[in-house]
Amino acid sequence: MKYDHILVRYGEMTLKSKNRKMFVSALKKRMVRALKGLDIHIKTNRDRAYIVLNETDPYVVIERLKHISGILSVSPVVRIDKEEAAMKDTALKFAESFEEGKTFKIEVKRADKTFHLDTFGIQHLLGGYILEHTNHLTVKVKKPDYMIMTEVRQDAVYMYYERIACLGGLPLGTGGKALLMLSGGIDSPVAGLEIMRKGVEIEAIHFHSPPYTSPMATDKVKQLVDIMSEQTGFDIKLHIIPFTELQTTIYDRIPDNLSMTTTRRVMLTMSEKLSHKIGAEAVANGENLGQVASQTLTSMHAINEVTSLPVLRPLLTLEKNDIIKMAKDFGSYETSILPYEDCCTIFKPKAPKTKPALEKVKHFEASVDFEPMIDKALQNIEVYVPNEKEEKNEFEDLL
Ligand code: ATP
Ligand code: MG
Repeated sequence: MKYDHILVRYGEMTLKSKNRKMFVSALKKRMVRALKGLDIHIKTNRDRAYIVLNETDPYVVIERLKHISGILSVSPVVRIDKEEAAMKDTALKFAESFEEGKTFKIEVKRADKTFHLDTFGIQHLLGGYILEHTNHLTVKVKKPDYMIMTEVRQDAVYMYYERIACLGGLPLGTGGKALLMLSGGIDSPVAGLEIMRKGVEIEAIHFHSPPYTSPMATDKVKQLVDIMSEQTGFDIKLHIIPFTELQTTIYDRIPDNLSMTTTRRVMLTMSEKLSHKIGAEAVANGENLGQVASQTLTSMHAINEVTSLPVLRPLLTLEKNDIIKMAKDFGSYETSILPYEDCCTIFKPKAPKTKPALEKVKHFEASVDFEPMIDKALQNIEVYVPNEKEEKNEFEDLL
């Protein structure tokens, strides 16, 4: 079948009628960026968008649209003149591609009320024509295997049968900004995607402790940011924080079983400071209830105490298997499982407290002046932005 359009259905934005214009234009911006370099044209209107394919492969376009938030689903579509012969011909072509022994139904949307056939008339015309010219299919009205959608609009008839689910949610840029704590593990990239799915832009913060952590571990986090940016069509700025001095101080001065709690508290304190600087209204992380000692409610309470910013934990109650599946779908999994250690793994206490008492933690922290070390680290942030690297490399090639 030669498709000439992709029909794009919007996500939850249909609920928010007042802001719809802003949502549609934010989504269009994302689609333009994701489809850069392809010979296509995007037409948006209030309740759906069409991508005019010219000669572009529809599935190449769909692959690029799959991770854009605000798109509920897409369908490759054939646009035909409002003539019976063309409609019959297209319906038959669809049917011929259906599997032997399966059932089908003609589903009609008749937006142009002046069209000479009514819904039943169209069903009868197309269904009858298919049954007459094939012998491997039967009609079934309730839950058929295939539904041939026939939309009669003012300008033309649009026909399709595939409906490919996308990310859903809200277009990026319509929900403010959050700072994602990105570790290099499986969870935090997925957490970032979930936040972005709800329209929230992110910047990322990563703590590394050279020479205890290798440059490869930091490169891996940069690669994750590349993947996340590529998949979402949004360049994520990564702030890499030198954490060695703080990490070793914590290791020396805080009792082993509370050091994880303090590490997390210091990380969150620094994340809050950076959030204020970059205009982020929340911090997000990949924590999952009960997964490890620092992720019990008591731990979260002790860690959270350092900030009044909302801490978003989109994976809080998910099963690890589901998170892994999400990471695989998203394309971050293979990079996340590369073996390079991050700072928390290396300084991991033998028996971290699952119920760290806040008073005790504060008591030990009181004997250390973290403030100057925190300020120093925040003055030495390395910033990485995926596309700036590309531009720089291109420039270097010219030299
Ligand atoms: P992940 O797979 O995201 O690493 P995890 O299950 O391994 O998560 P932890 O290592 O306990 O869990 O980390 C919990 C969360 O803390 C991470 O999801 C991440 O958001 C944040 N985090 C941990 N280490 C770092 C780091 N070095 N830099 C930035 N954030 C971190
Ligand atoms: Mg981790």
